[in-house]
Amino acid sequence: MPTVLGLEGSANKVGAGVVRDGAVLSNCRATYVTPPGQGFAPGPTGRHHRAVLLGLVRAALREAGVEPRDLDGVAFTKGPGMGSPLAVVAAVARTLAQLWGLPLLAVNHCVGHIEMGRLLGPAPDPLVLYVSGGNTQVIAYSRRRYRILGETLDVAVGNCIDRLARLLQIPNAPSPGYNVEQLAKRGRRLIPLPYVVKGLDVSFSGLLSHLQAVTPKLLDSGEATPEDLCFSLQETAFAMLAEVTERALALTRARHLLLVGGVACNHRLQEMLQTMCRARGAELCPTDDRYCIDNGAMIAQAGWQMLRVGQVTELSQSGITQRSGGTVLQVGRGGERLPSDL
Ligand code: MG
Repeated sequence: MPTVLGLEGSANKVGAGVVRDGAVLSNCRATYVTPPGQGFAPGPTGRHHRAVLLGLVRAALREAGVEPRDLDGVAFTKGPGMGSPLAVVAAVARTLAQLWGLPLLAVNHCVGHIEMGRLLGPAPDPLVLYVSGGNTQVIAYSRRRYRILGETLDVAVGNCIDRLARLLQIPNAPSPGYNVEQLAKRGRRLIPLPYVVKGLDVSFSGLLSHLQAVTPKLLDSGEATPEDLCFSLQETAFAMLAEVTERALALTRARHLLLVGGVACNHRLQEMLQTMCRARGAELCPTDDRYCIDNGAMIAQAGWQMLRVGQVTELSQSGITQRSGGTVLQVGRGGERLPSDL
């Protein structure tokens, strides 16, 4: 019964979780919180993670009821993400693996989200829409690799939403809180915003600069409320995502759409994708709210998959990478294929 400890810390969340053969034994997490209107910079975020990570590891082991000697591997996020937080987590993972004489498993963060969604949901081989503060990708599995079919050409959709929150000086913790999603529910006026879809790719940078340019003017003149701006951003950005996802569903003929990443918690996005999926005879599989947001258990689960097929990381190869690194995401899964040949 392989048991894996997973460490995550690619952005402002830091977590440690333990997974044993498809069962999540623990999932402890902390968030680096900054005041509304401010983002989080890599340096201070890394220092926050460094201060709390060992405490989270202890809590995760205690909650799981396991000792270090019960573990079979230490998984950590190799990337993509912010440099300083990633480096902190990788250093802790390397140290623990050497201290406890365990194999090291370097996990791609995106694959962690997907593997957790597959573990919890009904679909073994879904089309994936991965939407978060750092990533926006449409992904399908084929010939032992995850293939990115479409992605943002610039900023991620979650980053775009965060930047509007910063502009409006409101907090943007995931739902249910006082955030863009909650304000959007009370929006009445749809402000025309740039809608940029290129095949299976999307672009949000034009939309974002447009919002930044018009927001002060619209608010000052009373032409729009903060609620209208949140509503308009969500309707436009999510329609773009629904369009590319529908195209990818048609291409892959996938019957399930797995929704993962922090923005996957957004109920309006879920609703729009649900409508699209129903029209196509596909099933939407949103991830459980506890696991949408970055967490250690998802890294443990992807690491468990890697360990199962002997995809272990040498110490010399355990460096971090801030970029997603091309269009192929490796993971130690079996030989499943999509129904269609991509
Ligand atoms: Mg993430």
